Amino acid sequence: MTDPNAPIQQLASDNYAGICPEALAALEQVNQGHALPYGQDRWTAEACDQFRDLFEAPCEVFFVFNGTAANSLALASLCQSYHSIVCHRLAHAETDECGAPEFFSHGAKLLLAEGHDGKLDPASIEQLVTKRDDIHYPKPKVLSLTQSTELGTVYTPIELKAIQQIVRQYDLKLHMDGARFANAVAALGLAPRALTVDCGVDVLCFGGAKNGLALGEAILFFDLAAAEEFAYRCKQAGQLASKMRFLAAQWLGVLKTGAWLRHAAHANHCAEILEAQLRTLPEVSLMFPRQANAVFVQLPEAVIATLRQRGWRFYTFIGLGGVRLMCAWDTREETVHAFVADLKAELRRKR
Ligand SMILES: *Cc1c(COP(=O)(O)O)cnc(C)c1O
Repeated sequence: MTDPNAPIQQLASDNYAGICPEALAALEQVNQGHALPYGQDRWTAEACDQFRDLFEAPCEVFFVFNGTAANSLALASLCQSYHSIVCHRLAHAETDECGAPEFFSHGAKLLLAEGHDGKLDPASIEQLVTKRDDIHYPKPKVLSLTQSTELGTVYTPIELKAIQQIVRQYDLKLHMDGARFANAVAALGLAPRALTVDCGVDVLCFGGAKNGLALGEAILFFDLAAAEEFAYRCKQAGQLASKMRFLAAQWLGVLKTGAWLRHAAHANHCAEILEAQLRTLPEVSLMFPRQANAVFVQLPEAVIATLRQRGWRFYTFIGLGGVRLMCAWDTREETVHAFVADLKAELRRKR
C-alpha cells in the first residue's frame, strides 16, 4: 500500500493483519540456543498437550504451513482415491485450493452440496450420498464443513449434531475446516469440544494465520487411527517444518494466554459494530446473518468503484454488488468508523 492517503488498516481479510503480541513474544522466547528439529523439541510437545487440554480429548496434532495444506492433506488421509468428499459448493476446499484436495487424494471427487448462508443443508448431503451406490460412481466417504463458514455464519451444536447423524448413518468421516474456528467458538461461547469432539468431528484444521499467527495451522485428529502415518504425508507434501519450534511456539503463545479466543472475540465484536452501522444505511443491505467476523453487504456498483479509489480493498467474490468486509484480531474501531464514513460520503454523492 504505497498511496500515503490509503487507509492504514483494511477490511479485506483477516490475513491482512500482522502477528499478535502473544505469538511474537513466544517466538522470541523459543529463539534461544539449539533445539531438536522436525518437531522433536519440547515446545512442540507442549503445544500438542495444550491442544489436548483445550479440547479435553485425546488427539494427534500436526502443524503445517497453511490452510490449503491442512485441508487437503487431512481430506486425503480420510479417503481413498476412488472416494468422494461432500462439501458446500462455496467451501474453500472447492473454490480456493486449486484442486489440492483432489491432487493430494489422487483423484477423490468433491461432491457439492447446497445450503443457505454457506451452511450445509442435511437434506442436500443425504441426497448426494444416496444418489448412487453403483461401482461407476465415487463412493462418498468424507463430509467436510467449514466453521465459521465462508459466508461468515456459524453452525450451532444442534446443526452439527444433525449433520453428525447423517455422517453416522452413511459411515462417513467428518472433517472441519476451521480456518476461523476461533471466531466460531467466540461467537457461540461454548467449549471447543462441544463443536468438535461432541459432534463427531474426526479431524479439525484449526486456523492460526487468520487469528494472529505469522503462519501455521494445526491439524487435530480426534480419530487417532486416521492419524497413523499422517506425518509421512506431511513430509512428502513439503509440510514438515525443520524448525518446527517456531510454528509450535506461536500456538503456545496464543493458547497459554487465551489470546486465541480473545482475539477472535475482538474481531467478531468489530464486525458487530460494523454491521450495526451498516444497518442504518438504507442503500445498504446485509446479504447473510453476521455471526462471526465477516459482514457481507450489497452495495451499488458505482460506490464499490469509488471506495476502491479511496484506497479501500475488499473481496467481491460473492457476485455482482456483493462485498465482503472482514475484521481481524487487531482491527481498530477507527477503521470501522473510517470505512463507514467513506461509504456514507460516497452514497451521498451518488444520490
Ligand atoms: C483462508 C482459508 C483457508 C486457508 O487458506 P490458505 O491461504 O491456504 O492458508 C481455509 N479455509 C477457509 C475457509 C479459509 O478462509
